[in-house]
Amino acid sequence: MSAGSDPLALSARHHFQRAADGLELDSGLRDLLSEPRRELRVRLPVVMDDGELQVFDAVRVVHSDARGPAKGGLRYAPSVSPGEVRALAALMSWKCALMDLPFGGGKGGVTVDRSSISDQETRALTEALVDALAPFLGPDRDIPAPDMYTDERVMAWFMDAYRRHAAGQVPGVVTGKPRALGGSRGRNRATARGSAHIIRQALAWCDRELEGASVAIQGFGNAGRGLARILGGELGLRVVAVSDSSGGVYREDGLDAEALATAKEEGASVSELAGGEHGDALTNEELLALEVDVLAPAALEGVVTEENASRVRARLLVETANGPVLPGADPILEESGVRVVPDILASGGGVTVSWFEWVQNRSGDRWSADKVEARLQERMGLAWEAVRTRAEDRELSLRDAAWQVGVERVAEAERYRRV
Ligand code: GLU
Repeated sequence: MSAGSDPLALSARHHFQRAADGLELDSGLRDLLSEPRRELRVRLPVVMDDGELQVFDAVRVVHSDARGPAKGGLRYAPSVSPGEVRALAALMSWKCALMDLPFGGGKGGVTVDRSSISDQETRALTEALVDALAPFLGPDRDIPAPDMYTDERVMAWFMDAYRRHAAGQVPGVVTGKPRALGGSRGRNRATARGSAHIIRQALAWCDRELEGASVAIQGFGNAGRGLARILGGELGLRVVAVSDSSGGVYREDGLDAEALATAKEEGASVSELAGGEHGDALTNEELLALEVDVLAPAALEGVVTEENASRVRARLLVETANGPVLPGADPILEESGVRVVPDILASGGGVTVSWFEWVQNRSGDRWSADKVEARLQERMGLAWEAVRTRAEDRELSLRDAAWQVGVERVAEAERYRRV
């Protein structure tokens, strides 16, 4: 695991500096907020199914806890590095502040290929992680959640392992749990739902009708599939293309998003589904270049770069994943009239419903699906308005506006604590 000069880290630094300049942040606060408050690197010994001991590198970063306990996902992926996790932890600080949640920002990861280890090994790995981090976790300290290649089962193991370190049950130590263990209704689809709310607002802002607007979605994991279902189903948009790492499928008059999502959940890759009744095959690069109303990268970081940005022809690019557009691409997109809705706004639905879960866990309440949906819609609407008005008042891009609002709110909390 090397820190390196991760593209996401460079991107987070770039956007932070622009926001800090725009806010004329004093040098002390700028220094404080430009690096994480805490970074724990641990090595996790795990006895594998064959009886052999294997050691995994893991890291948990708290970027800021000025506005409340740290909040942010835990990813299990081969690409996990301290540089990447540091950048993602900072993104969580700005995202939580922009959504006006009582949380700071954190992120964690284990460098592992989840597909190469069994469920039993994943459980043992999760327990080893909790053992290593326990004194720094808790509903008032640091609260992990699902992220790349972690899901509600991992969160259940996490909560259960934490129980051994606490006096009794502590469901609020982690969010994104199964409903049976205190998870919230609506958490699974929350990132997609939040993103769909933002797409609705952003299309109206561009004077574009929702009904029939065309969408291409890159990434067909939890967020991408959920988004395809919501946009293509209840909102009546035309989902013309979706893709995963194997490739994509395209149909001009609209794909059957529900059928594709179900087939993917049953184990098919998107490229296996292309070429037949679903639609024609296309590559990920071709998908990025489609002339659509909305392009939503919903999986990986760094997919829109300085090299391919000039090929993007979407009216709106909505960052449903964390960090899909690299900073070098932003001016090129702006030049071609592509409006970018930034990740800290468009992907804020997941952590917002995590907050609802934490609130329910701490109060012993359970909310209905309607209540979760209504409150999510309200929070996404408030965040959108905060960004839109900042962008219009100060003539900023939506990205610069969102970062300014996020950084300003964290800086304000730091100031109250220290001055
Ligand atoms: N991993 C998600 C994110 O990046 C959710 C984090 C959370 O719910 O704490 O926003």
